[in-house]
Amino acid sequence: MNPAKTGVSCQVCGKQRDAGAIHARQSKLLKQVKNLLICTKCEAEKMEPRAFIIIVAKSKGVEAVADYIDNDRYHGPPIIAKEIARKL
Ligand SMILES: [Zn+2]
Repeated sequence: MNPAKTGVSCQVCGKQRDAGAIHARQSKLLKQVKNLLICTKCEAEKMEPRAFIIIVAKSKGVEAVADYIDNDRYHGPPIIAKEIARKL
């Protein structure tokens, strides 16, 4: 156990934050996710989890998440067409 790791992980950027800097809210992309743990920084930047963007792109088409992709509203490597084109 690392005593320094007492925070909560943000589900959008994956970083450990103090519990007070993270809250649960409904995902804007996947409404069925009611308890997305998001830090205040990701919230301010209107980020969503990278995986959610890919799921929505596959199910509803890339137009549904074009703003997220165009404006890099996710963490991690750039989302590439290959990830979106692959069937669910
Ligand atoms: Zn975050």
